[in-house]
Amino acid sequence: MYGCPREICHAHPLQRHAYRNPETPEMSIPPGDLPGAAFLQCTATGERLPSERLIGLSPAGKPLFARYDLAALGGRFTPRAVAGREPTLWRYAEVLPVRDRACRVSLGEGFTPLVESPRLARTLKVGRLWVKDEGQNPTGSFKDRGLCMAVSRALELGARGLAIPSAGNAAGAAAAYGAAAGLPVHVVVPADTPVPILAEIRALGAEVRLLDGLIGDCGAVVRRRCDEDGWWDLSTLKEPYRVEGKKTMGYELFEQLGGRLPDAIVYPTGGGTGLIGMWKAFAEMEALGWIERKRPRMFSVQAAGCAPVVHAWERGWEEAGVWKKAATYAAGLRVPGAVGDFLILRALRESGGGAVAVADGEMEEWVRGMGAATGIFVAPEGGATAAAVPRLRELGLVGAADEVVLFNTGSGLKYVGMEPLG
Ligand SMILES: *Cc1c(COP(=O)(O)O)cnc(C)c1O
Repeated sequence: MYGCPREICHAHPLQRHAYRNPETPEMSIPPGDLPGAAFLQCTATGERLPSERLIGLSPAGKPLFARYDLAALGGRFTPRAVAGREPTLWRYAEVLPVRDRACRVSLGEGFTPLVESPRLARTLKVGRLWVKDEGQNPTGSFKDRGLCMAVSRALELGARGLAIPSAGNAAGAAAAYGAAAGLPVHVVVPADTPVPILAEIRALGAEVRLLDGLIGDCGAVVRRRCDEDGWWDLSTLKEPYRVEGKKTMGYELFEQLGGRLPDAIVYPTGGGTGLIGMWKAFAEMEALGWIERKRPRMFSVQAAGCAPVVHAWERGWEEAGVWKKAATYAAGLRVPGAVGDFLILRALRESGGGAVAVADGEMEEWVRGMGAATGIFVAPEGGATAAAVPRLRELGLVGAADEVVLFNTGSGLKYVGMEPLG
């Protein structure tokens, strides 16, 4: 092991005093060193690779999943054991890849509120409705989950520098966790990235490069930098650990709903890490005996101006192509081509879900609609989830009695000054 001799940031385990489970009054925080992942597995070919060195994609050029010895965890990693732990994503440490406790970088990410809104449920004509408010993560988006995990693991495995292409929020999160870990971060973002996000990246000490292009163009620049300077590439699904951080949303839904899952999850999909991650979490939870076979139907929402997954879904394709001239003010949805496209489409299919697109104007309208109904200033991507529900109702994919969770993936504050494109 490399060990983590640096001075890194740890959130205090009792920071959110409000969350103490009365049944387990003493905080049972997972012990020091954990087994971590048993191996990495190619999501396309099933090939197994060792987990204890830095690996990006599989030899087939596809995303890798971390696999755990779930049978060995069964009796110990139970909902009851987890209930009294610290309110961050580290409460699920046994199914996370970081072994050395000293390498768990933390700014208090995860365990975000699941807010029920009866008024929004009535407006959208569904049985019950919750908003998972990911805007309350440390940098105001759920990118913190993935980057917390990827940076912690890169630190544990000895990375010296980190690089990331991003449509915005991922770069902010990488800058934050890189700073917390004491690792240099180089970000490449489109020139029209929202100003609050650029200000954040700069304030957090990352080196920023602005590019006249989209996230794919930024990715090419990052790859060169990584090849030449030996930096570690944190691109979506091009390393195995961001998805591990994001999967914790699936475990949280189960805990926060009192030990069950909703009928439907509506998720604004760019690279798809969160959706793929939750689907992976549900499979793990079934193997661990937390849940039965039944799982939520997963729905992807994309912007009408960049909807490769919807396009592929409507045609029954197993992979999505690359969208031309991607245009939407929802920065997180401006992802014309995703390396995990086949995993997104697989989760939609296996869950009995689907995919719909909404226009920027509808997102904007629902940012206000959700705000007035819930008190949460959601990101355009969050607005997109509410905008999708009437369509899902019309298509008969969501029913009048269904329990629905909408993912507000970021805070509206990060988009102030951005105009919807129509
Ligand atoms: C990145 C991002 C998304 C898309 O997330 P994926 O998991 O990559 O699909 C959605 N909303 C916001 C606010 C984002 O920053």
